[in-house]
Amino acid sequence: MVRVRIAPSPTGFAHVGTAYTALFNYAFAKKNGGKFVLRLEDTDIKRNVEGAEKAIYEGLTWLGLTWDEGPDIGGKYAPYKQSERLETYKQYIERLLDSGMAYRDEGAVRFKNTNSEISWNDKVRGRISFPGEEIGDFVIFKSDGFPTYNFAVVIDDILMKITHVIRGEEHISNTPRQIAIYQALGEKMPFFAHLPTLRNKDKKKLSKRRDPVDLRIFRSHGYLPQALVNFLCLLGWSHPKEKEIFDLGEFVELFNLERVRKAGPIFDTEKLNWINGEYLRKIPKSKVKNQIFEFYKGKYPKELISRIIPLVQNRMRNLTEFESLAGFMFERKKPLRVTDSFEWHIKAAFDALSGIKKWERQAIDEGLINKVKSEGFKTGDFFMDLRASLSGSRVTPPINDCIYILGKDEVLERLSLSLK
Ligand code: GLU
Repeated sequence: MVRVRIAPSPTGFAHVGTAYTALFNYAFAKKNGGKFVLRLEDTDIKRNVEGAEKAIYEGLTWLGLTWDEGPDIGGKYAPYKQSERLETYKQYIERLLDSGMAYRDEGAVRFKNTNSEISWNDKVRGRISFPGEEIGDFVIFKSDGFPTYNFAVVIDDILMKITHVIRGEEHISNTPRQIAIYQALGEKMPFFAHLPTLRNKDKKKLSKRRDPVDLRIFRSHGYLPQALVNFLCLLGWSHPKEKEIFDLGEFVELFNLERVRKAGPIFDTEKLNWINGEYLRKIPKSKVKNQIFEFYKGKYPKELISRIIPLVQNRMRNLTEFESLAGFMFERKKPLRVTDSFEWHIKAAFDALSGIKKWERQAIDEGLINKVKSEGFKTGDFFMDLRASLSGSRVTPPINDCIYILGKDEVLERLSLSLK
């Protein structure tokens, strides 16, 4: 049975690169009826950060990338935290020491390298080999009583019966060391697949200083998890029919490692915005309404949200833009005076709108346009001032729709306030 895993270290927040690796592992497991394991690499005690573990669980759950076994839910091969597996590592160290394949060196333990060439058939990159001398006698157990990454990862993968190691390309140079340990222990090694490193638009590796990499940032900026997952699917992988918009189920269905490209995919936030916009247009209005309601933590009434959605749904690229496009519908903003004829325009608009008996879209349209004509105003200037007086902004959804939804009293009140 296929068994794959991700092994993040709880050294900060949930990184989008972890989500990317998780996504490809998840898809591979589901496609092959296998299991997806979450394991925490927490033996670098100095680097562990409080709350990081929870952030990993929350980030992956938000994206729908759920695991079958892990520290929080347990499983047949528990424990799933390296810090709880120290005794096991020590036993394996003893075994290597006894058989002469490792030796003590100033309190640490080093693996005795045989200097033979090591190679493997990478599922993404094809054949990779390393000359034995490049590997050297490396440390597998530190004097502080903790195993090194290269050692612990192998023991865990053996004991957890991992069949495919799918991880980032930055680990390629670790792989020969890990294979050497499998060989020394007489264990069958898993298949390896090294995914391309995500790069930003300058083709640099994503970094937390320069790029948005914390999953919580995407969440708080109003991206939909389905859209972010769709975007990640397209990094280094392409749909056989060149489709750009598809869901996780479809990805799982079509996924195979052979379609993963080696070249570093570009993490292009413009593309993410586009995909997120597509999702916001595509999903049913009632669902968008709930997403907006929850995103703003109940700050805006649902009834008003749903009346405004048709005005903004085609322009919103993420949920934060709901507020920038339509926030003025919920609360008054400081009016903006755009043209020199502001006073005349607003007085005339007040006049036209206050005369309307039955507050309907058509009556609003006619009342305003007739006024523009009878006064000889420039249409564009008039509506710009009207928009700016009601919203405090030069860009809004169609202003007559907004006027209609705001209601007569509120509109007249805002117009008179903007003349003060
Ligand atoms: N802690 C390593 C990482 O997150 C795990 C690498 C591996 O999958 O072997 O990059």
